[in-house]
Amino acid sequence: MVEIKTPEQIAKMREAGLVVAAIHEATREAAVPGATTKDLDDVARKVLAEHGAKSNFLGYGGFPATICTSKNEVVVHGIPSEDVVLEDGDIISIDCGAIIDGWHGDAAYTAFVGSGHAPELVELSRVTEESMWAGLAAMKLGNRLVDISKAVESYIRRQPRPATGKYGIVEDYGGHGIGSQMHMDPHVLNYVERRRGRGPKLVPGMCLAIEPMVSLGTPRTNVLEDDWTVVTTDGTWSSHWEHSIALTEQGPLVLTARDGGKAKLAEYGVTVAPDPLG
Ligand code: MG
Ligand code: MG
Repeated sequence: MVEIKTPEQIAKMREAGLVVAAIHEATREAAVPGATTKDLDDVARKVLAEHGAKSNFLGYGGFPATICTSKNEVVVHGIPSEDVVLEDGDIISIDCGAIIDGWHGDAAYTAFVGSGHAPELVELSRVTEESMWAGLAAMKLGNRLVDISKAVESYIRRQPRPATGKYGIVEDYGGHGIGSQMHMDPHVLNYVERRRGRGPKLVPGMCLAIEPMVSLGTPRTNVLEDDWTVVTTDGTWSSHWEHSIALTEQGPLVLTARDGGKAKLAEYGVTVAPDPLG
């Protein structure tokens, strides 16, 4: 069953989404050489408190922090630690969430620590981010769930291959429904799997988190001994981008983007719904 939200509930999710956007802005500024991933978690905790929001990450399945910090070959679910120091040349994916009055937001981005990154890393993050926008642009009335998966996958496959061979589209993790809980039905694949069929129709009131994870090599992953940290099996570096999006009668609204996704979705010819918070 897919949870359908009322416009009032979507407005609450927009509030939560803007808190997530604020965490992104603050952690991005703090992700500099010499900072530890624990420092980034402290920054996120402070922003949540300032907005009177609760964390949906802290305590989730026993997760010990308020954000996930996934550096270099870590794909997702990296645990912030005083022992993980950011170094010039690293890339880090930061995944954050917030709850306002029981309604959830969830979004992630990849940041470059310091400068002088290899062009293939810059391109990896660009391709991953843009594939997310292609997926978000497919969140429209008349489409089905598979159209989002297809948009993400086909965007990545249309790009020039990296020198390392081929982009690995991670298959072990994907996007999800979001609303009164962080993770809800349906699961959103970042590739098309024929046996799953076309999935449900996209209807007003549906909210999804769309989150491609892409590596410079294998699509395969392992979980480390801490039971959380997900790494690529070949050690290649990876990128993760995510936004939460609502579909309304007036079109989509990217809940975790400051501008509701207006500028990026315009590139795809998609007009976003009016912001319920004005
Ligand atoms: Mg997330
Ligand atoms: Mg998510």
